[in-house]
Amino acid sequence: MSTRRVAIVPHTHWDREWYEPYQSFRLRLVRMLDRLIPLLEDDPSYAKFLLDGQMAVVDDYLEVRPEAAGRLRALAAAGRVSMGPWYVLMDEFLISGETIVRDLQLGILRGASFGGVMEVGYLPDMFGHIAQMPQILRQAGFEHAVVWRGVPSTVDKSAFWWEAPDGSKVRAEYLMTGYGNGASIPDDAKALVRRVADHEKEVGEFLLDGLLFMNGTDHQEPQPWLGRVVAEANALQDDSALEITSLAEYLATAPTEGLPTWRGELRSGARANVLMGVASNRVDVKQAAARAERALERRAEPLCALFLPADKWPATLFGIAWKEVVRNAAHDSVCACSVDDVVDAVNVRYAEARVIADGLAEGALSALTRSLADAGPFAVNSAARSRGGLVEVVVQGEDVPARTQALPEEPGAFGIPRGLGPLTLDATTVRTILGMMPAGSQIDTHTWIQDVRVEEDETGIDVTIAFGNEERFDVPIASVKQDLYTRLGARPDSLVRIKIDQPPVQRVLMRTAEVPGYGWRPARPAEIAHPVEVHEPAESTGTAGAGRRGPTITNGLVEVVVDVVDGTFSLGGVPGYGRLVDGGDHGDSYNYSPPATDRIVDTPDSVAVTVLERGPLRAKVAIEARFTWPERVSGSTRARIGEVPVDVTTELEVQADDPVVRVTTRFVNPASDHRLRVHLPLPAPADHSDAECAFAVVRRALVAEGRPDEFGLPTFPSRRFVSAGGLTLAHEGLLEYELVDVDDDGAHAMAVTLLRSTGMLSRLGMSYRPLPAGPLTPVDGLQLRGKQIEARYALCVDCPDPYALVDDVFLPLDVVYASGGGTRPPQGSELRVEGAEVSAVQRQASLLEVRVFNPTDAETTVSIGDRTGWLVDLRGRTLAPVDGSCPLGPFEIATFRTAGA
Ligand SMILES: [Zn+2]
Repeated sequence: MSTRRVAIVPHTHWDREWYEPYQSFRLRLVRMLDRLIPLLEDDPSYAKFLLDGQMAVVDDYLEVRPEAAGRLRALAAAGRVSMGPWYVLMDEFLISGETIVRDLQLGILRGASFGGVMEVGYLPDMFGHIAQMPQILRQAGFEHAVVWRGVPSTVDKSAFWWEAPDGSKVRAEYLMTGYGNGASIPDDAKALVRRVADHEKEVGEFLLDGLLFMNGTDHQEPQPWLGRVVAEANALQDDSALEITSLAEYLATAPTEGLPTWRGELRSGARANVLMGVASNRVDVKQAAARAERALERRAEPLCALFLPADKWPATLFGIAWKEVVRNAAHDSVCACSVDDVVDAVNVRYAEARVIADGLAEGALSALTRSLADAGPFAVNSAARSRGGLVEVVVQGEDVPARTQALPEEPGAFGIPRGLGPLTLDATTVRTILGMMPAGSQIDTHTWIQDVRVEEDETGIDVTIAFGNEERFDVPIASVKQDLYTRLGARPDSLVRIKIDQPPVQRVLMRTAEVPGYGWRPARPAEIAHPVEVHEPAESTGTAGAGRRGPTITNGLVEVVVDVVDGTFSLGGVPGYGRLVDGGDHGDSYNYSPPATDRIVDTPDSVAVTVLERGPLRAKVAIEARFTWPERVSGSTRARIGEVPVDVTTELEVQADDPVVRVTTRFVNPASDHRLRVHLPLPAPADHSDAECAFAVVRRALVAEGRPDEFGLPTFPSRRFVSAGGLTLAHEGLLEYELVDVDDDGAHAMAVTLLRSTGMLSRLGMSYRPLPAGPLTPVDGLQLRGKQIEARYALCVDCPDPYALVDDVFLPLDVVYASGGGTRPPQGSELRVEGAEVSAVQRQASLLEVRVFNPTDAETTVSIGDRTGWLVDLRGRTLAPVDGSCPLGPFEIATFRTAGA
């Protein structure tokens, strides 16, 4: 028998936050690195250490020990410490493709100051892997991945070729039993030899050649005896040649012959848990992630890149926002399989990123507004495709313009009703109000202070403020305020009479003609080909025996009929949409698991239907359904017990000229230990689903591979949309779907999880996953009990372009109010991208960077108008010149850099 090479890679797996908050784990990180650094410096036999493939651990440490940077740099330069390539070890399914790319780029950038990152796509603990990961890695120059979870049973070797849909391929080293197979090496050479031999027996049939022994596990400290005990073990025997090495060195000579090939995503539970239930716990976190990523990627970055001067690109603020989003991408963070302190922090980070993004977007829109030659309202399109859409516009005058729909009257400035007589206030109140007044003359997007007059007589002070829609910068707000303070100071007992002149305005809905991609045009009401109407039957009270047919919303493209008995609705004649199915969930943050005795509630006790808007531009109907849900799962009997009432409001919206039904469902969650799903019938039976994942749409069967330790539940994540059987669902953070009602013809409905409510980080003895996946810690916040849940999604039958659908629904056109006097023409576009989906538009110094991908299996030509530039890889290295357009292969990702505004 030949000698087996045993590569020991010392490491630690550092979840930044998980069952303890970030700062608790950081205290441990500081202690761990305080020991590791001198150990490596003093003991050359402790040859290598892998810092978990993520630069965040380095930054988190150096924030506390900045003086250690030089020592870490020296160890990295000597090849003793491997850093990066990631910034954090993200979850790959619950975040956008762009966040994955930014995570990698941030890691590579931080690693550069330590002499570079490990050139290995180390993915040790992610709960499965996206299909496009091999392409992302190749575009960053990597040829290797290291994976554990998600590998299907057909892969029966310790390495395989992993192919992305575009054909990009990396060699994937497969950690058959995880990243801790060599954790806690004993200080005893004989025991170590036995341990290696035992592990070889366990995984021997998988081994192509050497054995990779990952010496570390979650938050493990280095074992100082490692070098000595390895030397002693080598002296004891000849079966194995043990060496302490790095992943990169091991993989450089690892075998490449006889490897099986796998193409696509890795989501199998054949040998390790994929913990698919993380997609649906803490729906608030997933919604916050969707909103923050959209605000950054799809609105703030394109608007700032295209409408601000290149030297005004707010790189630092984008850096701050992206770092929050990337930190949240860590697998225990966005997955919310963590204690409440962690989840609270995650929500705050997403909120901060979104607020920064929204503020930057507003700044870019203001710049565009000021640059327009004409005055009036304009629609702005922050998406790549040219599109019309419904916008709310405030127009001046007493009359509702033609081809618009009046909305409830706009409250006046500061919420003061129009036409209100003078307000008489005392000096103290006025001083308080003055303190809260904005410093400038702009009140909201379309209201400006036009004039302020102050007059005084023996009876008091009169202040007259005129509001209007004209942009005014010359009103001396500050000096008027000063003047008022002075007068109030001199006469503290005087009364102040405030009169507000507000011109009449109308708030209306209109549908604009097509606005060019990344462009603008005047917001004027276009002709409507398919106005929307609501028809109400004479009798529409929801009592059994009466007619079920409630209001019908129709625009000639789609017809929705509300069922007043069960609160569902039909779509194109197919009934049963919107059925809310509430079942027990005795699982945990990682996995759904039905209780031993389940009780399913899917019919309401009563239903009331109200028509909120009747067209012709927009119609809305509210379905208020009262249910009685079980209150919780009993810990002893494992049955659903108790009863709680709940009012669920589902609002349906149909717009003119649009075949889409927009749905918002709201309720306050009154119960624990349950899963609420909405069931959506499929127009035709389906044997697969097509779901959006990073840079691709992936096709999945009706089943998932599992094993007794983790039931192969075919609930899958979709990032923003999923299609099956002719139905497309677009959603905001409702990541989990399952095709259900399966018979010989296939699946007949899609179930989408609106809420999964469990109270345990991990649980023991679950029917679908008997062994724990983490600490058995009660986590109250996972119940989301007492929390307002608002789920937003849209439905479209035979949707021609789900990427367009999701933008239309969740990235509406913006409206700005220009005063004129600039140079920009009334209609135009700053960037044309055709033939591919756009993932990013941003700036790299003076250059505009555009990342696109081809989500189809056919080669296409992507065009960037008349711009010229260069194709670059994900490290920004130039690949080839581009003049206007270039071919893009099936499922290929490409990044352009182009000069000019
Ligand atoms: Zn982990």
